[in-house]
Amino acid sequence: MKITVLGSGAGLPSKTRNTQSFIIDLIEEINEYFLIDAGEALQHRILNTNIKPSKITNIFITHLHGDHIYGLPGFLSSRSHQGGEGVPLTIYGPKGLKYWLETSFEITSSHLNYPIEFVEVSHNDCFDISGFTVSTFLLDHNIDSFLYVFEEPVKKGSLNVNKLLDIGVTPGPVLKTIKESTSFEHNGTTYLTEDFLGSPVDGRKISIHGDTRVICSEDYYQLINHSDVIVHEATYLTNEKEKAHQYFHSEIDDVLENFNNVSYGQLLISHISNRYDEDDLKVIQDKLPSEVTLMYDLLDITIPRDSR
Ligand SMILES: [Zn+2]
Ligand SMILES: [Zn+2]
Repeated sequence: MKITVLGSGAGLPSKTRNTQSFIIDLIEEINEYFLIDAGEALQHRILNTNIKPSKITNIFITHLHGDHIYGLPGFLSSRSHQGGEGVPLTIYGPKGLKYWLETSFEITSSHLNYPIEFVEVSHNDCFDISGFTVSTFLLDHNIDSFLYVFEEPVKKGSLNVNKLLDIGVTPGPVLKTIKESTSFEHNGTTYLTEDFLGSPVDGRKISIHGDTRVICSEDYYQLINHSDVIVHEATYLTNEKEKAHQYFHSEIDDVLENFNNVSYGQLLISHISNRYDEDDLKVIQDKLPSEVTLMYDLLDITIPRDSR
């Protein structure tokens, strides 16, 4: 599991930053990618990776500001010609997204060769998507903007082969059958599989925010607590708290302070304004704690199990 950054910039792109877009790479786990937001140069960034558009089968849009969706119609159209024929796609997003996309397709005479299902999200939704639990939370922006929390299912512990040998089970293909069952029979006795398993392994958790002011509420802290990775914006990186508040965005010190209320593995800062040049950003990055990273385009972050 990893996150690939396809767009780390704020409202305006820069030479080095596309507007917001991320991939959660779940190829090893479920042979799929999840795409979160679709900044304008999404397709071009994908060309710099090994990502196959046909393997993007679920898209999550945080909100309908252009810097988060202007890459979507182009990507969806191209996907028809990039192995996506007949491969269904589901798009989660706020009210209005379906209308905007269908209008774009109609006016531009775009015809997709695969079905799209639209799912309108609201506050505190919870979806089961390819075995992952995906929860939503309404943030504080000047239009509806959502946080998506992705939770991997708990993995069964490994089989205790010695314990199985003790009851006379010989190792072989039967072990796989036993692990996948809840109980099994051997020499006329029925055993519970859980008695032969090690401790279950926690799934990983990724929390990706749309644009927002910092949120300070108990239910929010509870939702994102124990995330392996949190992605949060900091459009303002240098002491401009009032401006951040005025424009419904966040300032980095506020973000860091707020996350003292939760435990997490890594914090990735997104929505980097083009007002900062790379030298400014290097100075800011050097002052940040090691678990906090200012994102940049095409950054890959691998998320090991138990990283929090
Ligand atoms: Zn934005
Ligand atoms: Zn916005």
